Amino acid sequence: MFTCVGYSSTSPEAPLKPVSFERRDCGPTDVQIDILYCGVCHSDLHQARNEWQNTMYPCVPGHEIVGKISKVGSAVTKFKVGDLAGVGCLVDSCRDCPSCAEGLENYCEKGQTFTYNSEDKVSGGITFGGYSAAVVVDEAFTLRIPDNLDLAAVAPLLCAGITTYSPLKHWKVGPGQKVGIVGLGGLGHMAVKLAHAMGAHTVLFTTSPDKVADAKALGADEVVLSKNPDEMAAHANSFDFILDAVAAPHDINAYLNLLKRDATLCQVGAPDKPLATNVFSLIFKRRNFAGSLIGGIAETQEMLDFCGQHGITADIEMIRMDAIEDAFARMVKSDVKYRFVIDMKTLPTAA
Ligand code: NAP
Ligand code: ZN
Ligand code: ZN
Repeated sequence: MFTCVGYSSTSPEAPLKPVSFERRDCGPTDVQIDILYCGVCHSDLHQARNEWQNTMYPCVPGHEIVGKISKVGSAVTKFKVGDLAGVGCLVDSCRDCPSCAEGLENYCEKGQTFTYNSEDKVSGGITFGGYSAAVVVDEAFTLRIPDNLDLAAVAPLLCAGITTYSPLKHWKVGPGQKVGIVGLGGLGHMAVKLAHAMGAHTVLFTTSPDKVADAKALGADEVVLSKNPDEMAAHANSFDFILDAVAAPHDINAYLNLLKRDATLCQVGAPDKPLATNVFSLIFKRRNFAGSLIGGIAETQEMLDFCGQHGITADIEMIRMDAIEDAFARMVKSDVKYRFVIDMKTLPTAA
């Protein structure tokens, strides 16, 4: 074991602060990554504040990790010391159930190990995430980073990128389709870039009038102010697919009514309160209301390679580690343009 410094929350109300904790040494198939940048996902905020009622404290968030390999286990084949590597929301799974066999470790039927706030099946205790100096992960759950992309702006691809790429691929988004993205935050802005790159006519729904110009620059063909009923009504029954990335309770029926017959609204945003469905929105046009959880490891690599080919990264605002509470406060106000990324050089060397 070795001592690692990070930032943790210790209760729903307590601000994040420096902490020391133990990580396992590199096993034969593990790599140790010195973390250079970590993206700030709204899930980090939900979890630090126990909004999903399942937080185990102390909680070290962070699952958009990029860094440099500093150690490799004796059996590691994918990386050598000095290579860049990424880690997303998963660090392990059973590797045996039908979902794992299909490469869908994100849906592991025996319980996937998330990068933080999960039972650590290798070293015991709970997993600690990327708001820290280093992480030790089995090479099977690490990702290769395309070398043509800005490293800090790649970090958000590890969660926001794959969480939007996976449903866009699953529902076969492409040319000739009209696709809606709801909410221009970290996930939403990646969804706009990816849906545009996949060739769909991309429509962004926002509650923030000041984001309209940005949304068009990011790749949206049209932008709808969702608080304006006339603008919403103009799109009734017209969408092939809608991806909802909103972090707070909101009216999903307003979006279900915009789907064509048989089309799907997929929820990736995870508000802490249930979203009420008016069943008639579904019944009358045989519409589908679905969900999607991050993505498997092979698909995450596919997404990173796609982003490398298309020159896609996140639009980021770099912050110091000690500015995390300000970043969380701005996130709650939808004031994110469009992903905070922590520069890990600013982490203290001792807690
Ligand atoms: P974010 O950067 O904070 O963006 C959320 C966006 O939602 C805001 O920027 C805002 O966009 C919109 N919004 C916020 N409050 C709203 C309200 N009251 N009404 C309508 N729109 C509102 O968050 P994120 O990191 O993208 O994460 C979004 C959600 O996805 C979170 O709940 C997160 O936990 C979840 N998530 C799920 C998965 C998964 O696997 N399913 C993975 C990662 C994250 P506008 O200003 O444009 O309206
Ligand atoms: Zn996330
Ligand atoms: Zn499994």
